[in-house]
Amino acid sequence: MSNRSCSSLRADCESCFGLCCVALAFAASADFAINKAGGTPCPNLDSDFRCGIHQNLRQQGFKGCTVFDCFGAGQKVSQVTFGGKDWRSGQETAKKMFDVFPIMQQLHEMLWYLTEALSFEAARSIHEELRMKLKETEQLTRFAPDFLLNLDIPAYRSDVNVLLMRTSELIRAKSIGKRKGNRENKKPDLRRADFMGRKLSRANFNGANLRGACLIAADLRGADLRRADLIGADLRDADLSGADLSGSIFLTQVQINSAKGDGRTRLPESLYRPKHWRA
Ligand code: SF4
Repeated sequence: MSNRSCSSLRADCESCFGLCCVALAFAASADFAINKAGGTPCPNLDSDFRCGIHQNLRQQGFKGCTVFDCFGAGQKVSQVTFGGKDWRSGQETAKKMFDVFPIMQQLHEMLWYLTEALSFEAARSIHEELRMKLKETEQLTRFAPDFLLNLDIPAYRSDVNVLLMRTSELIRAKSIGKRKGNRENKKPDLRRADFMGRKLSRANFNGANLRGACLIAADLRGADLRRADLIGADLRDADLSGADLSGSIFLTQVQINSAKGDGRTRLPESLYRPKHWRA
C-alpha cells in the first residue's frame, strides 16, 4: 500500500470536527471511563475540536480512544460531505453528520481493504476487478448526505467481501512450508476459531485463514502470522511480542492498537508501531 493511499485512509484529526468524540456512544468499561450517548460531545473535547487529555488518555481510563481509527472517514465527512461546515452550525446538520459518519467509516474501511488487496502481487489476476470496486467505492464516498444515508451498506460489504476472500485465497495459496501432520500442505481454515487466552507462542499460522477468529488475550509471542488472513480477528490484549505479521492479510491499525507488542514485532509496511507498545 503506498504512503499516499495510506494517508487518505488514516485519521487526520486536524481536518475533522472531532466526529468520533461526538457521534459515537461509549459504555463505561475498561476502555472508557464514562458513559456517553451518541451525538453528545465528550466532556474532554475542547472548543477547537482537540482532545483535552490527548497525552494521558490511557492513564485517565480512555484506552478505547487510543485504539480507535476512523480510516480517514472523519476528515471526509467534515471537509467533503459537509464542505467544512461543522456540527455546531445547526441541529439538522449535526444529526445528519453523526448519522453519515459510521456509514463513511465503513466505506473507508472497505477502501483500506481494497487498496491493500491491490498491493499483493499474488492477487494480480483479479487486480482489474479490485480496481473497479475501489473506484466505485471511492465515488460513493463523494455523494451527498441523503444518498449516503440510504445506501445498503451490508449488501455492499458483502459484494466487496467476495473480492477480498478471493484475494486472500490467492495470497495464502502461495504460502510455503508443510505443517506437521498436514501432508497435503493445506492451509488451516481457522475462521471464527476461539483462541481466547490460549498459549500459542511460536505457533505457525503462516497462510492460515483466521478471519473473525477470537484471539483475545492469546499468547502469540514469536508466532508466525505471515500471509495469515486476519480480517475481523479480535486481537484485543493478544501478546504479539516478537511475532511476525509482515505480509499478513487485511490487518488494520485498530487491531494492532488493541494488542500488545514490542520492538521485535514485525508489522506490514502500511501499519505503525503503537506508542504504548514496549520497546
Ligand atoms: S477522551 Fe478525548 S479522544 Fe476520547 S472521545 Fe473524549 S475528546 Fe475524544
